[in-house]
Amino acid sequence: MTAEALRNRIETLRAAMRPLEPDGEARAELGERALRHALDYLAGVPDAPANRPWAEVFAQRLDPEFPETGRDAESVLDYFAACVERPGFATTSPRFMAYVPGGGLFHSALGDLLAAVSNKYSGFASASPGAVRLENAATAWLAEVVGYPEGAAGTLTSGGSLANLTAIVAARDAADAEGGGAVYATRFAHHCLDKALHIAGRRDAPLRRIATDSRCRMSVEALAAALEADASAGIRPWLVVASAGTVDTGAVDPLAEIAALCRRYGAWFHVDGAYGGLFALCPEGREKLNGIELSDSIALDPHKTLFLPYGTGAVLVRDGRHLLASFSASADYIRPLGESEVGPSPADLSPELTRHFRALRLWLPLQLAGVAAFRAAQAEKLALARYLHARLSEIQGFDPGPLPDLSIVAFRYRPQSGDPDAFNERLLRHVQEEGRVMLSGTRIDGRFTLRCAILSFRTHIEHVDEVIEALLRGIAALQGGADA
Ligand SMILES: *Cc1c(COP(=O)(O)O)cnc(C)c1O
Repeated sequence: MTAEALRNRIETLRAAMRPLEPDGEARAELGERALRHALDYLAGVPDAPANRPWAEVFAQRLDPEFPETGRDAESVLDYFAACVERPGFATTSPRFMAYVPGGGLFHSALGDLLAAVSNKYSGFASASPGAVRLENAATAWLAEVVGYPEGAAGTLTSGGSLANLTAIVAARDAADAEGGGAVYATRFAHHCLDKALHIAGRRDAPLRRIATDSRCRMSVEALAAALEADASAGIRPWLVVASAGTVDTGAVDPLAEIAALCRRYGAWFHVDGAYGGLFALCPEGREKLNGIELSDSIALDPHKTLFLPYGTGAVLVRDGRHLLASFSASADYIRPLGESEVGPSPADLSPELTRHFRALRLWLPLQLAGVAAFRAAQAEKLALARYLHARLSEIQGFDPGPLPDLSIVAFRYRPQSGDPDAFNERLLRHVQEEGRVMLSGTRIDGRFTLRCAILSFRTHIEHVDEVIEALLRGIAALQGGADA
């Protein structure tokens, strides 16, 4: 092709790609439309059901399309509202108290918008010193919250699973390079531990399931016995994984005692604090987490306990050099970009290279709302859990279980007759199908147990009262049905 022919071809292509860059006016219109949509959605959150049946997705019979020619924004947003926003769990609802809720701070959504629009490259300091400084300031702040000393390092991940994986790879390289070391965890450890061991090439590491006490916390005596048994049999204790808030009941393992045992046996002490670790921000939570600062690594989930929208976990390593040793980039074309006065580059602390500029969605709400508001919200959640526990204790028939360590209440109802497991399962299904409040369940030592996890910043005392009302409605319906 001649240059002239190419010029014509290029001009044609340029005209065809124009929809990718709307002009200022079109951007404003699109942006305002999307923002209005988001604000309308949020306006409906207080009264919308916390759970809507799956069937709604299929009832719409609308498969996502990938059209050759762009469609108008209104019809795209309509699709999104009907087929994506409506059905399933409303994790934005103040009455969503299943699994481990997040919430989704609006400030963070704005942070995501700004991060995406500026598209700063947060992997390397040389590319965006300001973004990397913010990333490092965010992890330094988290390290301060948990009480780590100078010299700690960390990185923001996509979530808790990747935070745990990152820590376990660092622990492997630092303390189990040749393999063969044993791992210690209770049966309440999150299943992402199994995935992480698998990915880290340690699927076959001897895994000691340490017994728990009556409150589902790791038994220090049982851990000491397991460590001693391995050490005297010539098996090296490699990794102890403690929970700072289990998913089942929110139980916090005795971290300070576990730390002392890890020191004695030379084991790496990792804390999975994805649910509970960040309660260290408020004094009530800090007290429960005594000893977390003695660990070698911690996984956290700002998208749970700092109320961010999904997509942000964090890993911290007490001696940050271990994180660099495991993940520092070695490719020659990257090396010269190296270090800087704004600290290490995220790409040298994690398996990721190019990544979302996550710090902005964490930093912006802390700037706009202030740390005190977060501290108050966390303390409120802890108090709400104790309030629910107290209310359940006052109602005939409920077995509210032990006082919650954090913000999860695990409880059962004792039916007048019949199998309590089957009854509690049916009760949960009734509440979920009604959809006004959303709870979840678990099995603890074979017993089906209901869970109420209070963690959304939107959840207040009237919503906890609604949990009781929904349960009482369910009980009346089920027992009425049984008597009929
Ligand atoms: C949520 C959670 C995880 C997994 O984190 P994701 O962010 O879902 O990947 C791991 N451990 C605990 C204790 C959790 O609560």
